[in-house]
Amino acid sequence: MDSALKVVFLSGFVVVTVIRGWYARRHPKDAIADSRKEGLAMWSLMSLWGATQLIAMVYVLTPWLDVADYHLPTFAGLVGATTYVVALGLLWRSHVDLGRNWSAMLEIRKEHTLVTQGTYRTVRHPMYAAHWLWVIAQPLLLQNWIAGPPALAVFLLLYLLRAPREEQMMLDRFGAQYRLYMNRTGRVIPRLWSKSSDA
Ligand code: SAH
Repeated sequence: MDSALKVVFLSGFVVVTVIRGWYARRHPKDAIADSRKEGLAMWSLMSLWGATQLIAMVYVLTPWLDVADYHLPTFAGLVGATTYVVALGLLWRSHVDLGRNWSAMLEIRKEHTLVTQGTYRTVRHPMYAAHWLWVIAQPLLLQNWIAGPPALAVFLLLYLLRAPREEQMMLDRFGAQYRLYMNRTGRVIPRLWSKSSDA
């Protein structure tokens, strides 16, 4: 079972690399109209995020970290695999929806358009929602204290730092249009009811 879960994780990792590579090639980058400087904390967290995924690969491909294994019931592994597949599907669809507006950094492009449809219809950050599902799945698939849970902790901090700054940038660029969009959507979980427009 453990090795089957590792194969699931590895396959997903390949799928994500292909999705990102494909969209980067398909959508040549427009000029940047606005970009927000990332501070030391953000750069450190992004590097740590890279490290968590590199460590995950080391765990999947070598026995070096096995000493820190833990074991969950089979059911947990199945929940992890299902969550992971949903995360990959959401990541793919949100890439399709965001199209050429995507960027790894906080940037607004010259021809930037506000996307509010598809996966962006009910939540403002479907890609981050996909990452949430990913980091929830990771400790269920990789049952190891070094390769599993740290990704969740690092992403939590990344998200807390990134999402408010990104929304401020979008508000500065799209003003009332983004404010209205915020009022009817949730960050990563759909809103059950809309805020009044002046809220
Ligand atoms: N936070 C979004 C997008 C991540 S990519 C998500 O989780 O799905 C980051 C870039 O997407 C940001 O630099 C910003 O320019 C752009 N972006 C974020 N929300 C957007 C939206 N609704 N429409 C268009 N571009 C958006």
